[in-house]
Amino acid sequence: MAKLKGKKPSESELTTARLMMPTDANVLGNVFGGSIMKYMDEVAAIVAWRHAGKNVVTASIDRMNFYAPVYVGDLLTMKAAVNFVGHTSMEIGVRIEALDPRNREGTHTGSCYLTYVALDEKGRPTPIPPLILTTPAEKRRFKEAMARRKLREAEDAVLKAD
Ligand code: GDP
Repeated sequence: MAKLKGKKPSESELTTARLMMPTDANVLGNVFGGSIMKYMDEVAAIVAWRHAGKNVVTASIDRMNFYAPVYVGDLLTMKAAVNFVGHTSMEIGVRIEALDPRNREGTHTGSCYLTYVALDEKGRPTPIPPLILTTPAEKRRFKEAMARRKLREAEDAVLKAD
């Protein structure tokens, strides 16, 4: 099979915002972590699909810590980019910030790393274009993503051994 042409993270990266509605929150107006994770998965999946150029499915979502509350009426900003590409899977990172449009103050709510697998027309894992790294941040994220991949594999091995 012909080698796939490489792509830069800038060709698939995405920044998007979403207004938090009462349906996203509890009765006191605190947005559910699950709502944030759903929007994050959607945004990350778009980045993965743009990089792979094929259908993608979520393979794993890393642990996520919420550093600050998000309220109804906040603008949830999600910045997402591909950090690492393996043979058929890739890591997408998402940085989430909550912006109160009334005082324009932005807070880093959390960051998360998600893994997607690209699928062919028959639903089988299929190769993904390699990543062309140019900026120092992209090179750092690639290295850190490789370390996270090793950690996930080690954790899976421990859980399977039990
Ligand atoms: P980092 O992974 O150590 O750089 O931690 P951050 O919390 O700053 O970002 C988490 C992830 O969000 C990164 O790994 C990137 O994949 C993505 N990201 C961060 N900043 C940006 C940005 O300005 N634009 C886009 N598109 N993605 C970003």
